[in-house]
Amino acid sequence: MKDACIDFAAPYGMTQWCDGLLTVDPSGAVALCQTEEPSAPPVSLPQIVDALNQRGISAPILLRVQPFLDRSLKRLHAAFAAAFAEVGYQGVYRGVFPIKVNQQAEVIGRLVEVGRSSHYGLEVGSKPELMIALAQSLSDEGLLICNGAKDEAFIRLALLSRKAGFNTIIVIESLREFDIIRRVSTSLGIRPLLGVRVKLTERVGGKWQASSGDRSAFGLGALDLVTLMEELKATAFLDCLVLQHTHLGSQVPDIIDIRRATAEACRFYAELTAMGAPLTHIDLGGGLGVDYTGGRCSDGNSVNYTVQEYCTNIAETLRYAMDAAGLAHPVLVTESGRYVVAHSSIFIFDVLETTLYDSPDKPTALADDHHLLSDLLAVEGYINGTRMQEAFNDAVYYRDELRALFRRGQIGLAQMARAEQSFLYLNACFKKATELDGPRGSVHPQAGPFVDYYHGNFSLFQSLPDVWAIDQLHPMMPIQRLNEPPDRQAVFSDITCDSDGKIDRFVLAEGIGDALPVHRLRDDETYHIGVFFIGAYQETLGDLHNLFGDAPVVTISLDGEGGFTIEHETEGDSIAEVLSYFEYDPSACLDAFRRTVEQAVAKGRLSTAERRMMIAAYKDSLSGNTYFNPASPIASQPPR
Ligand SMILES: *Cc1c(COP(=O)(O)O)cnc(C)c1O
Repeated sequence: MKDACIDFAAPYGMTQWCDGLLTVDPSGAVALCQTEEPSAPPVSLPQIVDALNQRGISAPILLRVQPFLDRSLKRLHAAFAAAFAEVGYQGVYRGVFPIKVNQQAEVIGRLVEVGRSSHYGLEVGSKPELMIALAQSLSDEGLLICNGAKDEAFIRLALLSRKAGFNTIIVIESLREFDIIRRVSTSLGIRPLLGVRVKLTERVGGKWQASSGDRSAFGLGALDLVTLMEELKATAFLDCLVLQHTHLGSQVPDIIDIRRATAEACRFYAELTAMGAPLTHIDLGGGLGVDYTGGRCSDGNSVNYTVQEYCTNIAETLRYAMDAAGLAHPVLVTESGRYVVAHSSIFIFDVLETTLYDSPDKPTALADDHHLLSDLLAVEGYINGTRMQEAFNDAVYYRDELRALFRRGQIGLAQMARAEQSFLYLNACFKKATELDGPRGSVHPQAGPFVDYYHGNFSLFQSLPDVWAIDQLHPMMPIQRLNEPPDRQAVFSDITCDSDGKIDRFVLAEGIGDALPVHRLRDDETYHIGVFFIGAYQETLGDLHNLFGDAPVVTISLDGEGGFTIEHETEGDSIAEVLSYFEYDPSACLDAFRRTVEQAVAKGRLSTAERRMMIAAYKDSLSGNTYFNPASPIASQPPR
């Protein structure tokens, strides 16, 4: 049984990309593993969804798995510790979490709590993020790194925060910014801890290649750096410069780029030190990638290194460079956001319906069929190896001719419907004839026209914005019935009325595919699809296209005995909330609707009972969520 499940799950390549976090249980369900406690039984994802349904929370759901979050953070620290020990690096590691990657209070709170013992800090890139950071209780040694464009208010707050015990470092992003820092610092009489953001010349690969190196929008190049150093000296602020910052871009796919960039950062560090800067910290920013495809290769959705390699490469490069320059090993800071949070979130949606492009139902030939329809039906007779393509060409030709006849009024709707049905039936025959062996078990790779549409209860724009915007690939698969062979191939459309709202590229064991193996829907069950590793960036970039709001978010911990505990629950946006984002006042909307309905009552077009029902339906919807709710009761029946 177990083997069958693994076999039927094989096409999804889960074992390659899941990083040990998922398995398939004997009932064919995807289950969450507790990697830190290998003896703990895995927790079935469909059972979690069921349990949430019983509590009134239905898909789409964003599920946050707390132990997965903890694991990534601990792994990062453990990997640097191991790397430092291995290469003999004398400095310490002080990671910071870049808040922009996931600003949710719950995530930040958890990272701060779990990270405290390793002096984990925070990185902010805006004033609101600074406010978040200042509301956290970091360890005494945790850093607070301030990047981004900073106005006076930002800098004032950052400077004052040092008095409250924060190790706030203001990273100078431009020459102009230094003028503001100097002014505010002098007027407050508080000396800053300063960093400087250095623009490297090395370019990195991946999705953000074009804005790396020279074309990076941030930081100071050699020319500006020299000017800044002169200004720092002239204004007696040079003794404040303790940190050098660089950020390569996100999801850097190639470890060689990381090494080269680190080496260049070290060169700057050595030069700035030689010019008199009392640097003690080197900050290498983000860039540590996630292997979304499990491909272990340097394309945009994968990485060709492990977290341990990343840490070891950096530690080794730093050690050589610092030793060569005769410098003490600095405190290493990195700002890995994606790696720390990506794995912890899973998005689960239900499939509402399907559009299939084949059918097992064969229309019977009728005496008065148009001859082209008879020809179309006759194609079945020669669907075989050598004549396959001919048969397919003929089928398309006859169908299209029949469509043309319909447009010209030469055949009626009934004949047209029989033509479409015949074509769907032939598609099923083609599919059967081209079927591949093995667990993938279905379609010829060139079978594009046969691929189904599965209509999902989610908004791509709200929940998976990077899939839409930058062709990000997130692994996805059905979370149930993996003890049965998936017998269909599908692409997914979302619930927005936007033809862009679709997913048609998938992570598969064989590489990137344009259809996902799925099961035929059953009437008696809800079919759920899981989209994995969406903890980084997705929640905040999402938008309200078609006014679909936030899905509910549920954070769980695993109890080590195959069960789970709900740690936290955030309801999704209600329709009233979404309306108010756009400055509609929900109660004013309700009033306006009431007046319209009342006028209809006055004119005798509605009964008072119908009026009551309509108002109740409007009110129910305002407080309900924005997604398709299969369980929603038909608004109260009119009282008799
Ligand atoms: C976005 C960003 C990060 C996070 O990068 P990841 O690749 O997600 O780790 C870190 N530092 C800065 C300055 C950033 O802008």
